[in-house]
Amino acid sequence: AFESLAERLQGTMDRMKGRGKVNEDDVKDMMREVRLALLEADVNFKVVKQFVKDVRERAVGQEVMESLTPGQQVIKVVNEELTKLMGGEQVKINTASRPPTVVMMVGLQGAGKTTTTGKLALHLRKKHNRKPLMAAADIYRPAAIDQLETLGKQLDMPVFSMGNQVNPVEIATKAVEQAKEDNHDYVIVDTAGRLHVDDNLMDELDQIKAAVNPDEVLLVVDAMTGQDAVNVAETFHERLGITGIVMTKLDGDTRGGAAISVKAVTGQPIKFAGMGEKTDALEPFHPERMASRILGMGDMLTLIEKAQSSVDEEKAKELERKMRTNELTFDDFLEQLSQVKSMGPLDEVLKMMPGANKMKGMKNLQVDDKQIAHIEAIVRSMTKAERDDPSLLNASRKRRIAKGSGRNIQEVNRLIKQFEDMKKMMKQMSGMQKGKKKGGGMK
Ligand code: GDP
Ligand code: MG
Repeated sequence: AFESLAERLQGTMDRMKGRGKVNEDDVKDMMREVRLALLEADVNFKVVKQFVKDVRERAVGQEVMESLTPGQQVIKVVNEELTKLMGGEQVKINTASRPPTVVMMVGLQGAGKTTTTGKLALHLRKKHNRKPLMAAADIYRPAAIDQLETLGKQLDMPVFSMGNQVNPVEIATKAVEQAKEDNHDYVIVDTAGRLHVDDNLMDELDQIKAAVNPDEVLLVVDAMTGQDAVNVAETFHERLGITGIVMTKLDGDTRGGAAISVKAVTGQPIKFAGMGEKTDALEPFHPERMASRILGMGDMLTLIEKAQSSVDEEKAKELERKMRTNELTFDDFLEQLSQVKSMGPLDEVLKMMPGANKMKGMKNLQVDDKQIAHIEAIVRSMTKAERDDPSLLNASRKRRIAKGSGRNIQEVNRLIKQFEDMKKMMKQMSGMQKGKKKGGGMK
């Protein structure tokens, strides 16, 4: 199994503790690990070389921020530079000044063009209130048109198709005309792929591009193919000129290093990430989150975002503040439990938390509805003061609570223990996140 970079660096980081400046040898040690980890994550070796050089120059001699250890400081630089390599900011899909916006999907066979066509159409409708038309311009693969039409039915989304006896250039052209007529604001043209880049494919794509003058040429690449994805991206960009990349299959166990290289090699941003086979498994690509993932620091931002969609934003902010300042109360704890439930399978949620699998307390948090009811009963038997300040809970108060809730004293104790563990973990996690931005302590 892949050892996360954070784990690899622990030793060096420990040695650096207590120093006021980041010294050259320490950085060298750490960068050796970073280099290996990036290569293992399939980042192009030239990119790695330049990257290591940049980070070393930036990190050596830096004053260490008050709230960080020297090791954390280096990680912070690594994380920032990785984010920068991937373009820094999230880049949105292009929109034509005069609709319809024409999006052309290109890429090798099996990369995920057709699936992504459906996902993108759904995304545009759901998140941007758009009215897309999907066009079936892959006439070579026997089932390609069927596949898109099935997706269309499933999503209740119109599909333009002319069968497989008509030239793809004409299909694309007619699709755009049809879109204008029916007031579609996006046309997504699904094109054919081959197993390898070849001239016939490129010629056809060239012609389609010339005919419909797309606002966006999205190259779909499979993250699982690692270095190959990078070569494919380079060739497509040289030959055709792409305007953005969709990286699919990032839900697999790939470390996603290809994401760094494709941006570095083509200069074009990754705009979306495919996170599964289902039609809603498409996310805007966030360089910072990918950097965290490659570093093995977990994907806290995604987690916080998930929490935000099930609670309102104010609450999430308040919770985040409390996590940071260690002011969590039992009421928050209750709410967290029910939220974790609404976020989906607990296992999945836990996977996104850095170090969560190692937290003993978290293992015990595998709760079902019945247990939540018991926990609720216990918390409801506490006074307001006790809920806000668990340190008040002495033996006699615990006995009273046990009686009041109809649970036994061991359960009360266990809950208090879990709560303290969770608090500790939350503080640690929010510190890690903050550490990347403002320099809050990691540990
Ligand atoms: P195309 O040949 O480029 O049109 O590729 P398809 O859209 O037909 O997809 C090829 C396969 O990859 C299908 O089995 C898809 O379900 C799968 N696929 C596409 N995107 C993703 C993704 O983001 N995650 C996973 N796990 N599978 C994907
Ligand atoms: Mg296809």
